[in-house]
Order: sequence, then structure tokens, then C-alpha cells
Amino acid sequence: MLAASAALLNIDVVVLDVGHNGPAKQVVAPRAPQLAHINGSFTDPEKIRELSAKVDVLTVEIEHVEVGVLEEVESKVPLGVHPSPFTIRTIQDKFVQKEYLRKSGCPISDFLRVDSTVESIRAAADKLGLPFMLKSRTQAYDGRGNFVIRDLAQAQDAIKALGNRPLYAEKWVPFVKEIAVMVVRSRSGEVASYPVVETVHKDNICHLVFAPLRSRDPSIASRAREVAENAVKTLQGAGVFGVEMFLMADGTVYLNEIAPRPHNSGHYTIEACETSQYENHLRAILSLPLGSTALKVPSACMLNILGASSDLSEITSFSEFALTVSGARVHLYGKSECRKGRKMGHITLVADSDAELSKRLRPLLERLPGGHD
Ligand code: ADP
Ligand code: MG
Repeated sequence: MLAASAALLNIDVVVLDVGHNGPAKQVVAPRAPQLAHINGSFTDPEKIRELSAKVDVLTVEIEHVEVGVLEEVESKVPLGVHPSPFTIRTIQDKFVQKEYLRKSGCPISDFLRVDSTVESIRAAADKLGLPFMLKSRTQAYDGRGNFVIRDLAQAQDAIKALGNRPLYAEKWVPFVKEIAVMVVRSRSGEVASYPVVETVHKDNICHLVFAPLRSRDPSIASRAREVAENAVKTLQGAGVFGVEMFLMADGTVYLNEIAPRPHNSGHYTIEACETSQYENHLRAILSLPLGSTALKVPSACMLNILGASSDLSEITSFSEFALTVSGARVHLYGKSECRKGRKMGHITLVADSDAELSKRLRPLLERLPGGHD
């Protein structure tokens, strides 16, 4: 999606990823031999050095990269690395991220360091109460890094399930909604936020996103945007950031985590906002004027298309059905293999009202592979 946006602005993109035909590589045909994509891992230092030698600006769309090499090449790439390696390093370790954000004055609920021992988990339960969330500090995404401790008897299983990665514990947050805000930050540190959205997760994976936030109290949305903007202001480097938050029954907003890149909760911006998160990411890192973040439709939602099995034809036939729904736009990612829970694409739905949106969404939910409701 970033590459598609770049193509419209005549911005050449060189992609580092494994394989010859990953999703982004399918979108960009290099215009010259020196713009050829690189086959390799974004954790391979040599490959990152090779990429850095070819580009004017280097950016990431995943935070689990080899950040030490980004620090090394930062001063050699003419327009630098954005967001800054400092930001990526801080965010990569969720415990470090939370400490940083708390110190910066962001509203973060209780969390504490734990070791991978049953005793340490017991001590965390004494302080945080049960249930609490045990999280992997690193390499976590789509809930793969979280374990809900409801009973101390689960401690050993949790350590095993989280694969002996470094851990920390978070107090259970009994939120009424999960909300998110995309924030774009220019190279000079100016920030602009997108509308607040509600994110609905299923099995820890983002399932639906509704924009704008449906709420009787408009001060909630303005507070959430302020929390998100303030958090992103404390970071360094340009680009878009996805800020995930928890909304409590009394209207309090807690910051959950920040993604230093375009984010699933911002996919809706392609059809629903004046400037998509992707285009604004490019504008930000290239010092182009930032575009308006305003909604251009009254109501929008995004539905993730997750694999239900290894059967790719389920995805194809669902997408063909979606083509019959007014206001629906299908995005398939060109992934050659389907797996249960893998993000294969998404649908953005727009409508003139929330009521019309719900009507259009219903038949899609009924036919979603894997029988989501
Ligand atoms: P990921 O990197 O997988 O997105 P998150 O930390 O955002 O990890 O957790 C995934 C989901 O787990 C959240 O979107 C939320 O639904 C739930 N969750 C995370 N932390 C807590 C918490 N402290 N209390 C209650 N639910 C939580
Ligand atoms: Mg998350």
C-alpha cells in the first residue's frame, strides 16, 4: 500500500524483503537496474547496508528490524532513516517503550518487570492482582506475545508459550473499547492526527475498525487525539505512527502501545480520508507538505480478511462476494500462501451514515471465511 501510494507520486521504491515476489515487490517494477529490489531479511545487516547504499531515505514498515545497522547507516543515507532508529529501538522493546512513555508523562496503566520464573510471576500477581497480562517484551504482534494469567498455576505454561523471550507484566485493563489514532509527524516535529477509530479485536487480532469513533461525548475523541499527538511528539523522526489506546467506562484514556509505521487501524484512510496514512508517511519522510487528515465520508469501517485455513480459494470467493457490496473496496495483499489467522487482505466500507454502514457490513460478516460474527 505504501508502494502503491509512492507510484502515484513518481517516488521510486526499493524493497528489502525475502523472496522475489513479496507483496510490495509485486506493486513496484524497478524503473532502472540500480533500483532493483533486494532479496533478503530485514534483520540481515549486509542486506540493510546494501539497501541503504541505494536510497535517499530509508523507512520501515515493521519495527522488528536490525536496528543497530540502522543506527550505523543513519548518517550515510542522504535524508536519513525515518522514523529515527532511536524511536524504533525504544518501541521494539515494549517494556522500554512503556517506561519511556510513562516518563514522558503519557497515561500508561501499571506494569512491571518480571523474570521468566514462577516466583517472579507470583510476585507480579501479588502487586497487580489477577487476572493480569504477561507480555513478551520483544518480537510481539497480533497478540503473539501475550498470555493472560488468570491463575498462578498457569505460570509455567505461560513462560513456555512465550518462548523464553524477556517478559514483563501489565495490570489487567477492563476497557470498554479499544481505540486508535494515526498520527503523522513531519521532519520538523510538527504533528497532525487522524480521527479516532474504534478497533475490535478477535483472538488478539484486529478484526474491525470503525471510523469515526461512535460516542455521545465528543470530549473523548479530542482527549484521545491529544494523548496520541503528545505521545508521538515525544518520539524522534518523521512518518506515521499508530497509537493504540484503551477507553475506560469513565472516559479515561490509557495509552496501550505505539507502532512506528503505517498501521492496520489506519487502512481505512485510503478510501475514507483526504490523504491516506501511506501518502502522509511518504510526504513526512520526504519533507513534502503534509496532507489533510480529515474524513471525507460520514462513516467508514475496515474489515480484515484473515486466513481461516490453508485454502486460498476461500479468500478469493469471499472477495468476489465483497465486490457486490455497495461502498466496499477490496484490498488483497498478493500473499501466495494462506494460513489460519494470517492477514490476507482487507475491505474498506464507506457509507453516508452509520446505519447504512451497518447494513452493508452485515452480509460481509456473515460470509467471512472462518465464520466470524
Ligand atoms: P500486539 O503487539 O499483539 O498488538 P498488544 O499489547 O496491543 O499486543 O495486545 C494485543 C491485545 O491484547 C490488545 O489489543 C488488547 O485487546 C489486549 N490487551 C493488551 N494489553 C492488555 C491489558 N493490559 N489488559 C487487557 N487487555 C489487554
Ligand atoms: Mg497492539
